[in-house]
Amino acid sequence: MSSTQSTRIRRDDEVIIIAGRDKGARGKVIRLILADSKALVSKVNMVKRHTRPTQDSKGGIIEKEAPIALSNVQYFCPSCKAGVRLGVKKLEDGRKVRTCKKCSEVLDR
Ligand SMILES: [Zn+2]
Repeated sequence: MSSTQSTRIRRDDEVIIIAGRDKGARGKVIRLILADSKALVSKVNMVKRHTRPTQDSKGGIIEKEAPIALSNVQYFCPSCKAGVRLGVKKLEDGRKVRTCKKCSEVLDR
């Protein structure tokens, strides 16, 4: 079963982590890495990176988001207050919008 483009998580979506170390954490999708089926989610799956001093910075340890598997991420529905699966609905004007499969709320404006 493959998910179509229209039911996918997108950039700027609010998501919840449903598995792994950061289970239960919520954040905004910063970037999708579709080739790897991964996403960068703000403040989730933080890793420490050591950086070398350069002309512009002193270097040291910075915290950065690491990509997380999309299979561990669900759309966070503001009405259900939970991670949900996405459905799709065709509007009268032909536009396709994503909906919450649980409460049927339209999620795209
Ligand atoms: Zn919902």
